[in-house]
Amino acid sequence: MKLSAFGKKFTRHSGILSLMDDLGNAMANDSDMIMMGGGNPAHIPEVETAFKERLQRILDSQCEFTRLIGTYDPPQGEKGFISELARFLNRHYGWGISERNIALTNGSQAAFFMIFNMFAGHYDNHQCKRIQLPLAPEYIGYADSGVKDDFFIANKPDIEHIDSHIFKYHVDFNHLTIDESTGALCVSRPTNPTGNVLTDHEIEHLDALAARHDIPLIIDNAYGAPFPSLIFTEARLNWNENTILCLSLSKLGLPATRTGIVIASEQIINALSGMNAIMNLAPNSFGSLLALDMVRDDSIRPLCQNVIRPYYEEKAKFAIHCLKRHMTGIPWRIHKPEGSMFLWLWFKDLPVSSLALYEALKARGVLVVSGHYFFPGITDGWQHKYECLRITFTQDSTSVDKGISIIAKEVRKLYGM
Ligand code: PLP
Repeated sequence: MKLSAFGKKFTRHSGILSLMDDLGNAMANDSDMIMMGGGNPAHIPEVETAFKERLQRILDSQCEFTRLIGTYDPPQGEKGFISELARFLNRHYGWGISERNIALTNGSQAAFFMIFNMFAGHYDNHQCKRIQLPLAPEYIGYADSGVKDDFFIANKPDIEHIDSHIFKYHVDFNHLTIDESTGALCVSRPTNPTGNVLTDHEIEHLDALAARHDIPLIIDNAYGAPFPSLIFTEARLNWNENTILCLSLSKLGLPATRTGIVIASEQIINALSGMNAIMNLAPNSFGSLLALDMVRDDSIRPLCQNVIRPYYEEKAKFAIHCLKRHMTGIPWRIHKPEGSMFLWLWFKDLPVSSLALYEALKARGVLVVSGHYFFPGITDGWQHKYECLRITFTQDSTSVDKGISIIAKEVRKLYGM
């Protein structure tokens, strides 16, 4: 059977597929494996209780139950949730948006597919544009989302060494080239995989550059405020007509409901609604109906700020404590943990590639993610790409401690210590 170019592109083995398969198989084959590789949110009892209670209220009302399972929403998404969310965002951020500035998608992953392909690829004048990632490392999930190849261009960061073990990436504006071939800028903030939170100044600078070149600035806020608020530092959340802000209910605790949220100009929301209609008729409304009351009465804010954020912040602190305890003598560094659910480890001049280290750790019962996956758009053999690991710190303390001690032993051996 012959496949079209589209068919071939999306059935060949993508990075994200091989990564997800590998993680899934390793877990299925070995239940003792310590999982420090995935991006699943933690199952926090208070959060699950809040959603359980809401679900019970829905089940208790025939009308709400029918709304939950028995209606196609408009292609833009569940109307009640969209209008409550617009009010919520205006109440807390004063953006002056309306329902016409919000669309829902089946997970934010699907939103990125639609948005990226709207701005990169072939244009009427036969020009070909790409998505610019101003700071790599960046989220692996973007990597294969273009309907054509050669879809991203990315910039290496400036590296600030904060102390002997902590560093922070910054956008290297001196080498950021935006020209006719740039379709849009995109950053995740907090960043998956590094936990970096681009500074307000960096975001303002990117926003000004995007406006000057008449291209949108896409901000992936999957871990940011107002939900799930996995952000351990001060950062302003701004929006304007040139920003495409993407949120998600996944990291709040609802990944299975597949709910992505896009806040953008009416023109972009109309375009996304049209694409939703073609691809899905309507987006899933399960997550938005579960979260509706919390957005209406603002209780989503204390849930995030007093339960979810402290939960992850404590986990991050514990993982750093384990690193300090187990890694003595090793030249280890981590990116300053400012948000998300990951630590980004950098072993400078590691004698093997991070992929070989990943394999060795898998054989010893610890699953991490090799850092080289997170450089879409960096095509040269930059050594740094192969010196880093992403570890997820959401497991229980015993597993995190054991996992980090095994990583330390393996790395020590590799350095010949
Ligand atoms: N953006 C980032 C930075 C992510 O880490 C993820 C998932 O891990 C997504 C987007 C996609 O999330 P979802 O499709 O569940 O909304």
